[in-house]
Amino acid sequence: MYHVRLMTPDVAVVGAGPAGARAAYVLARAGARVTLFDPSHPREKPCGGGVTGRALSLVADAMAPGDCPATVVRSARFTSGAGARSVSVPLANAPVVASRAAFDRALLTAAETAGAALVPSRVTDVIIESTGVRLDTTTGVCRADFVIGADGVNSIVRRCVHAPFGRHQISIATGFFAHGVTSDEIVIELVSDPPGYIWSFPRPDHLAIGICAQADAGVTAATLRAKTARWIHATGIAGQAPLVPYSWPIPSLEARDFERLETAGPRWALIGDAAGLCDPMTREGIFLALSSGQWVADALGNGAHAGRTYASRVRAEAAPELARAARLKAGFFRPAFTELLMRALQHSAAIRAVMADLVSGEQRYAGLKWRLLRTLELGLAWRALISRS
Ligand SMILES: Cc1cc2nc3c(=O)[nH]c(=O)nc-3n(C[C@H](O)[C@H](O)[C@H](O)COP(=O)(O)OP(=O)(O)OC[C@H]3O[C@@H](n4cnc5c(N)ncnc54)[C@H](O)[C@@H]3O)c2cc1C
Repeated sequence: MYHVRLMTPDVAVVGAGPAGARAAYVLARAGARVTLFDPSHPREKPCGGGVTGRALSLVADAMAPGDCPATVVRSARFTSGAGARSVSVPLANAPVVASRAAFDRALLTAAETAGAALVPSRVTDVIIESTGVRLDTTTGVCRADFVIGADGVNSIVRRCVHAPFGRHQISIATGFFAHGVTSDEIVIELVSDPPGYIWSFPRPDHLAIGICAQADAGVTAATLRAKTARWIHATGIAGQAPLVPYSWPIPSLEARDFERLETAGPRWALIGDAAGLCDPMTREGIFLALSSGQWVADALGNGAHAGRTYASRVRAEAAPELARAARLKAGFFRPAFTELLMRALQHSAAIRAVMADLVSGEQRYAGLKWRLLRTLELGLAWRALISRS
């Protein structure tokens, strides 16, 4: 139940991914007039599709378990050397992996059922006026009292009301969907060049396999994809499955960006990827897309200073943790640390438990180094400490 006192009845939500659909659902349930703009559905989004338990519980009011087919992930396998070294870690708080066509459709259906109107048009311009907001779309001009930019990393709303992301604030993710093969295990191959990991996420009828690097790291998407293809071949993870390539950007901000994050202004707010709310280390973005959708809807219902209220909540509840992730990232994927990590995973049940919780979205960065310290894996703790997480 949302006890929302609506002060802003006409809300335009640009983008019907998890962030926009969640905001539209909460606002419409509270009685707001909500228009949701997105020309893309039904569509698959290049994404792992990993949805953590904390994200699922956020949308339990809008989605029944059967609304979206998903794989329940039983374990995470950490590997290095193209699988030469391998440790499987059971996941108690099992995340699920879903096709983004199915997951996003279920959220959008919930928003429409709650009363939000979907307009299948692309927004091409947003102008904030003293009396309201003007939105130019591919099918005409619309007006609203407030606009929510939920239109992803290339957000037009962001560009119109604030500024686009810089190249250093974005990473490129690329890889393949391997159709006709699946599993109940996430695979994470730690790689040193570029520092990070290759992932394989088991969706119900295919694997989503990919790799990611900062856009300004000097590595092209083609090089990254070729590296992923070599890994798929070396591990045999996809068998003979046909491989469909994809590439897509992910916001991956630096710690100082999170410390001065601007997410709202007069008559506008940015949520989800459009706001930069994605974990720069794990690239988990769905949880914060849903959370920020919820927060902006709560703020709009609660008073005249909706933008300010929403922005304060982002600063309090999301930015510090994301800044910690950004600081930790540099040290975490150093070859010396990943080498140590693989060894610790093999020998230490406590480290396996920490990594299981990290993958499941249960381990906050704020407590990570102290939890590592308590495991007495001094090497790990030391590395975590010097990365100033
Ligand atoms: C390869 C890859 C793997 C990932 N894996 C994971 C994962 O496993 N787990 C996880 O939690 N996160 C993952 N992420 C991050 C996750 O995909 C995003 O953080 C999440 O989708 C953000 O949701 P959103 O609603 O903000 O934006 P999006 O899901 O990007 O939705 C934006 C919507 O806006 C619409 N739109 C865009 N422009 C306009 C316009 N001008 N007018 C109208 N509509 C518009 C688009 O059509 C789209 O539907 C991954 C990302 C990538 C690229």
